[in-house]
Amino acid sequence: MEKKGKCVCPVCPSYADCGQLAFCFTGKSKCIKKENGCMCGGCPVQIENEFKGLYYCTRGAVKTKK
Ligand code: SF4
Ligand code: SF4
Repeated sequence: MEKKGKCVCPVCPSYADCGQLAFCFTGKSKCIKKENGCMCGGCPVQIENEFKGLYYCTRGAVKTKK
């Protein structure tokens, strides 16, 4: 899956680059602290995986049910 390539976080006003992407999978960012808007709602990764959340960078990864 090319999930990181489709992540739209780099164009998000909240994004800060510390070498991380796809927070819905990887969890909280080490350097993003402020929520200034979230682009996840329109992200192809979010849509393909039917994720419903926002602000994965500050609130943590998607919790998947097993
Ligand atoms: S849903 Fe959000 S965190 Fe996950 S890949 Fe898309 S933009 Fe990045
Ligand atoms: S998880 Fe949402 S708020 Fe955080 S950088 Fe990605 S699009 Fe922006």
